[in-house]
Amino acid sequence: MALDQIPVTGLKRVGPKLAERLRKLRIQTVADLLFHLPARYQDRSRLRPLATLHDGDEVLVEGVVVDAQISHGRRRSLKVWLRDEAGGGLMLRFFHFSRVQIEGMGMGKRLRCFGEVRQGPQTLEMVHPEVQYRVDDTPGAVGDGAAVDVPLTPIYPSTEGLQQITWRGLTDQALALLAAHPRALSDLVPAAIADPLGLPALHRAIEIVHRPPADAPVQALVERRHPACLRLAFDEMLAHQLALRRLRAQRRHLMAAALGDGGTLCGRLLAALPFPLTGAQRRVLQEIQRDLAGARPMMRLLQGDVGAGKTVVAALAALRAVECGRQAALMAPTELLAEQHRKSLAAWLEPLGIEIAWLSGRHKGAERSAALARIAAGESQVIVGTHALFQQDVAFAALGLVIIDEQHRFGVHQRMALREKGADGGRLPHQLIMTATPIPRSLAMAVYADLDLSVIDELPPGRTPIKTVAVPDSRRDEVIERVRSACGAGRQAYWVCTLVEESEALQAQAAEDAAADLRERLQDLRIGLVHGRVKAGEREPVMAAFAAGELDLLVATTVIEVGVDVPNASLMIIENPERLGLAQLHQLRGRVGRGDVESFCLLLYHAPLTAAARERLAILRRETSGFAIADADLRMRGAGEVLGTRQAGMAAFRLADPLRDKDLVRAAQQGADQLLADRSPAGGERITALIHRWLGDRETYGHI
Ligand code: ADP
Ligand code: MG
Repeated sequence: MALDQIPVTGLKRVGPKLAERLRKLRIQTVADLLFHLPARYQDRSRLRPLATLHDGDEVLVEGVVVDAQISHGRRRSLKVWLRDEAGGGLMLRFFHFSRVQIEGMGMGKRLRCFGEVRQGPQTLEMVHPEVQYRVDDTPGAVGDGAAVDVPLTPIYPSTEGLQQITWRGLTDQALALLAAHPRALSDLVPAAIADPLGLPALHRAIEIVHRPPADAPVQALVERRHPACLRLAFDEMLAHQLALRRLRAQRRHLMAAALGDGGTLCGRLLAALPFPLTGAQRRVLQEIQRDLAGARPMMRLLQGDVGAGKTVVAALAALRAVECGRQAALMAPTELLAEQHRKSLAAWLEPLGIEIAWLSGRHKGAERSAALARIAAGESQVIVGTHALFQQDVAFAALGLVIIDEQHRFGVHQRMALREKGADGGRLPHQLIMTATPIPRSLAMAVYADLDLSVIDELPPGRTPIKTVAVPDSRRDEVIERVRSACGAGRQAYWVCTLVEESEALQAQAAEDAAADLRERLQDLRIGLVHGRVKAGEREPVMAAFAAGELDLLVATTVIEVGVDVPNASLMIIENPERLGLAQLHQLRGRVGRGDVESFCLLLYHAPLTAAARERLAILRRETSGFAIADADLRMRGAGEVLGTRQAGMAAFRLADPLRDKDLVRAAQQGADQLLADRSPAGGERITALIHRWLGDRETYGHI
């Protein structure tokens, strides 16, 4: 019997409770279990010398106890110092410990430990490692080639209450069935497509990935460059391509209102703008207008670096909709960004007699009902807002175009939901999605195969590149002097406080503290403060004062990442930049360098930096283009993280990484072409089965 027909309940030790847990993870059959692939491995195959450890490593180490003491700091803990033959050291830390453990870790005892290395307050440490007390005193062979008895241990993605040991037990049984009946798992990729890749057969690849053989090259498996991983990555990318292509093909059957060249509004805005469009802006505008003029809904992704001038392109697209008697909605991910858009659009469109409605989460009661009424009556032609735009009670009179800013925070699902929202008599609105995280075209094709792409690859003229410098916070005084002299010379500056994102309260506090300190030390400067806890009503005047040049220095949290445009601001200090990702730093930095004076960004970091943080800051100093930065970011963090696909609920890849596996992207695209060319019912079923195997029954992909 086919393995996708055997329910997990047929396996040993799978009762109703476990089956229910698995069902929630979309695992119902033995085949589903086989495709539940390890997220990573623990490498217990070699001992690492203590001197080679880094923050974040998950390693097996061995050493002799040279000191042990119970410390009574904020929390009682047992600290044990290990030293190995090569002279390296490591501290172990336990918060819970028994007398037996204390004795087992006495002076001179040899321990073997497995755990994660963390940067502690003073030194690298391992908190609560798994400890093996070695009876004999001969050192294990330490070093790169020296293998010990335990091989790579697979670690499965899991949820609360499901132990790794359970996963191993389940996959053991599934793998045993597969070994006995290799044909019971159909290889849905035809030989004509799979064979030329020269990769292992599907069932073999699955075996290797779940249970790496003792002689398997560890590094290749961990980095997923092993042929077995590549085979599965290929299948996954193929399934993904097929799903997105299907979406795209289905679009051909959808209808939209054709928004052709009908009026004079676009021309009037172009004439009124204080600048001519750049060549790149003109090109993408043509691409957009061509789509809008069609009777199929546009689905276009507009990429462009920070400051490339996407907003005016969006305004012109919106005008085209208005010219044709339709409404356009512009949605932004944050209040602040939405506010900024509303202002830009108001300045450009209201002189043309266009009414702009504004909907945000803050609007309640009468104000909101009034706005809703004007939107429903079609009196507001352009609507700007946050997610609030797409709540149940918002009805549009004739929505012709939806524009979404900052695509990476919205996923495929949301794209679909928005499209539904504006559906009117079977006609869907056109969609334009704007992002400032430009990604290489090949990657975009792999990840957004359901979208058409437009790229603004040119900045408006007259921008002076920003000089970026990294300064340790031990030189904070000098930096403050720098602010004093820049502002003394008539410039304005930003001082950005960063903190881990989860805590808005802490972040706000950090900004309050910084502002108090700076006000104390820079008494001759006019200093404003904005952060997420400052109410919009109070934030507004501060921002306005800064924009009007009535403030010299704006102390802020990362809320100013988006939405601020003050050309006279030419200096930005970012405190603790090591806490932020590259893309976010680049966005922040984009707030300066908007005028014609030379601008500076000072990265006021806190030493010591991790290797990754050091590299991020180096990239930022070296590169000024968002494309180069996105590229570096992708290389450092992988596509899933950068595109935010995980958070956004977009089809995240389980093990493929279109960037790392870029050689396979082309092959997957060609494979998809081949499969889609087969229009027989069997061909269609095969495609459906492949999509189902890798993407599950997510509605998004099944139908629209
Ligand atoms: P982003 O692409 O980051 O959204 P914006 O649309 O905010 O960029 O544009 C940044 C600034 O550049 C704005 O002040 C905008 O008015 C201005 N701008 C846009 N296009 C041009 C152009 N062709 N020439 C000069 N300035 C422009
Ligand atoms: Mg923008």
